[in-house]
Amino acid sequence: MNDINTAGWRPSLGTIDGAALPDTVTGNRALDLQEPLLFEIGHADRSGVDFDDVEPDVLPTLPRRAARVDLPGLSEPECVRHYTRLSRQNYAIDLGLFPLGSCTMKHNPRLNEKVARMPGFAAVHPLQPQSSVRGALTVIAELADWLVRLTGMAAVAMSPKAGAHGELCGLMAIHAALDARGEGDTRRVILVPESAHGTNPATAAFAGFAVAGIPAGPDGRIDLAALLARLGSDVAGVMITNPNTCGLFERDIKTIADAVHAAGGYVYCDGANFNAIVGRVRPGDLGIDAMHINLHKTFSTPHGGGGPGSGPVVLSAALADYAPRPHVVGDETGVRLVEAAADLPQAFGRMCAFHGQMGMFTRALAYILTHGADGLRQVSDDAVLNANYVLASLRDVLDAPFAGSGPCMHEALFSDHGFAEGFSTLDLAKGLIDEGFHPMTVYFPLVVHGAMLIEPTETESRAALDQFLGAMRSLAVRARAGDPALRAAPRHAPRRRLDETLAARKPRLVWRG
Ligand SMILES: *Cc1c(COP(=O)(O)O)cnc(C)c1O
Repeated sequence: MNDINTAGWRPSLGTIDGAALPDTVTGNRALDLQEPLLFEIGHADRSGVDFDDVEPDVLPTLPRRAARVDLPGLSEPECVRHYTRLSRQNYAIDLGLFPLGSCTMKHNPRLNEKVARMPGFAAVHPLQPQSSVRGALTVIAELADWLVRLTGMAAVAMSPKAGAHGELCGLMAIHAALDARGEGDTRRVILVPESAHGTNPATAAFAGFAVAGIPAGPDGRIDLAALLARLGSDVAGVMITNPNTCGLFERDIKTIADAVHAAGGYVYCDGANFNAIVGRVRPGDLGIDAMHINLHKTFSTPHGGGGPGSGPVVLSAALADYAPRPHVVGDETGVRLVEAAADLPQAFGRMCAFHGQMGMFTRALAYILTHGADGLRQVSDDAVLNANYVLASLRDVLDAPFAGSGPCMHEALFSDHGFAEGFSTLDLAKGLIDEGFHPMTVYFPLVVHGAMLIEPTETESRAALDQFLGAMRSLAVRARAGDPALRAAPRHAPRRRLDETLAARKPRLVWRG
């Protein structure tokens, strides 16, 4: 008797062109195992432990529940199998090429993991006496030094825990600097290009600024004239991504930075795309005042499963004094943590309770030290080379709206222009799932219709890229020809097309049988 089906679960295998898919009794297909929810497998009479029932009177009256919680009871093997089966439905960088644009899904060298798991780093507690964590503090100080040198900036705030958190840190530093100048109440606008990542305007709004959009020019870069025209005494600063989310280097960045500074504002750079320029360009030389570095992107910490992230923010001399507490300081007495407000009178506050993500600092430093300065330069060279290989290999079958603007940086951008009537970027992305690839970033950036943003990263081999490109070419040809089977993709995934909007807007987070 099959347990899964008696639990009331029905596989939904769907149809192709009206015909039911060939089915199995279990819904499984060889090693592709279907998996119901824990609540559907569990029964109140099962348990992984054999504690005696609690006598109701030993519990005080107050916290006693009126109704049963109805947690699903599972045996240990049921529980282990559930999570193991779910884990097999994940796509991961350790399984294959992960072309998500803007996310820098590169291989994470195992050496980083080995170092991060050393007990002296992995088991430290943030409240340990400083004298017992000198090694950990030294790692933070050394990583900070590398980040400052690689970016050509004056200081770095290590504690922000993601790129978006770093954006907030940078804008709060800008706000603090404006307050110190007596302009905190008058400069309330942040200029954000239309191609920006959604976190940029969201962060500016969260930090209390008004957001003014700056259009892109026909070449996919910031419309310089529009930006210059908007500068004024109400502008606190700009948030620029360089290279931008169209995969293009903003060549006018120095002109923009000089003009923003002359108008009394600051330049925030979204550094998520640092992988394209690390070792080649120092943002400090471009006039940047603050930039977050996604350690989980550029410096190879596993990500994509929801965390952890780490977003240290490098700061120019103009903003360095406002960096949040704590600071790790190295001097003749050794490395120590400075966190008393009295010692850092201009610090705008704290970004989080303690020092930041120790495990990610350790991984990032291991990655940087194993690559060295020349290896990091090679990272960006190869990342850009791979992206241009993708761009050049697909241009004849996919519309590349800005390919006329010259080579791309570390990601290649395509549009749905030329697809048959009724066929969309979504169809191609779903087709990629059938081919065994995680889809690229779709419908971002917004400045391109049906955008497909592909970031191969430097860690993919020519052979891996060729296999991916073969799949992409075939799908592009099918989308242009209007192959109806593409609209039924994915056929081979555990589920067909889901209503992602409904799932995002009205998630059902509570199980009610
Ligand atoms: C990833 C990303 C961010 C946000 O970083 P998180 O670490 O996810 O918060 C911001 N901007 C761009 C361009 C990104 O790719």
